[in-house]
Parts: sequence; C-alpha cells; structure tokens
Amino acid sequence: MVFKLPELNYSYDALEPHIDKLTMETHYTKHHQAYINNANNALEDQDKFKDMDVVELLQSLDELPDEIRIAVRNNAGGHYNHSLFWEIMSPEGGGDPEGELGKKIEEDLGGFEKFKEDFKKAALGRFGSGWAWLVLDDGKLKVVSSANQDNPISDGKIPLMGLDVWEHAYYLKYMNKRGDYIDAWWNVVDWNKIQEKFDKAK
Ligand code: MN
Repeated sequence: MVFKLPELNYSYDALEPHIDKLTMETHYTKHHQAYINNANNALEDQDKFKDMDVVELLQSLDELPDEIRIAVRNNAGGHYNHSLFWEIMSPEGGGDPEGELGKKIEEDLGGFEKFKEDFKKAALGRFGSGWAWLVLDDGKLKVVSSANQDNPISDGKIPLMGLDVWEHAYYLKYMNKRGDYIDAWWNVVDWNKIQEKFDKAK
C-alpha cells in the first residue's frame, strides 16, 4: 500500500513544554515523511509486497528481496514506529495507568514506579539511535529496546507503547540530556490509548 502521514490529533505546540513545537513539527513533517517516501520508493515495483500493510511487511522481512530488505526494515519500520508514537501521546496525557492495564503492570512489571525505572533504563541504555518499548510477549508485559527503526513486531512481540530516543526527537530542547526528555515524556503519555491497544492485543 502507498503509505502516507497519519493524521495528528493535536497541534504541533500541544505537547509543550514537554515536547516543543519545532521538534514536533520537524519530526512529523520531515523525519516521518522521509521514512514514508523511502518506504514507498523501495516498494514501488514490488508486486508481491506493495499491497501489504506495514505490520505484514515488518513480519515478513526475511521474505523480502535482498535489494530492498534494509530499506523496508528501516523505513517501513520508521513509518510504523512514528505512527504509534504520535498516537500514544496527548496533551491530556500523563498520570498513572489504571484499570486492567494498571493491574497487569503491577503483576508483570512490579508496579508503575518500577516499570518507569526499567523503561528509563532501556531508553537511556540504548546506545546511539533507537526506541524503548512496552510490549506484550506471550501474554506478558515486557520492557525492551530496539536499535534504529527496528520494531518488536519483527520479533513476534506486540508493541503497546514506544518512545523515540533518536537525538532528532529531543535534541533541540534537551540537547544531550536524554534522561530529562524521558522524565518529561511521562506527562504526555496517553494511557487510554495504550489501554485500547492492550485490549486489542490480548
Ligand atoms: Mn523519530
């Protein structure tokens, strides 16, 4: 399928002061758009693969022709990852996960505070560019990280939330302080959306 930018449900400055307007606008209109363009270009002449949706593609990396495998892995991955990232943030975000998801975080991850600690460790510990994730893996919640634009889908896991820790996601405002960006990010996490994804994934 021909990929395009998903609609953003808030304005570029809506997540201020945690994510600044210029970072948001550049990230969405330039970085995400570039992943989309590159993915579309790579798949253009691939009759067998061009009608797949992005999840199918990320589940099928091994079947792709050698000459497009890396381009699809990086750019379809980049498209999926950023689409999820925009979706699970909201100006009304923050607070604690409640309900079934909150309970599951208690059970599998030792509670919200412990989860936040482990998530920060994964996000800070990812050397260079990548993502930190909350995933559902065989019915259990887990915290993992990935390099570049790799996605847990390619390892058979279901991503529920992801944090972009590429420098382009925070450098304009936080410069080298990735930890401050991670701490601030919890204020915009939309737990209702993540609960929805959890409900669908179970
Ligand atoms: Mn990014």
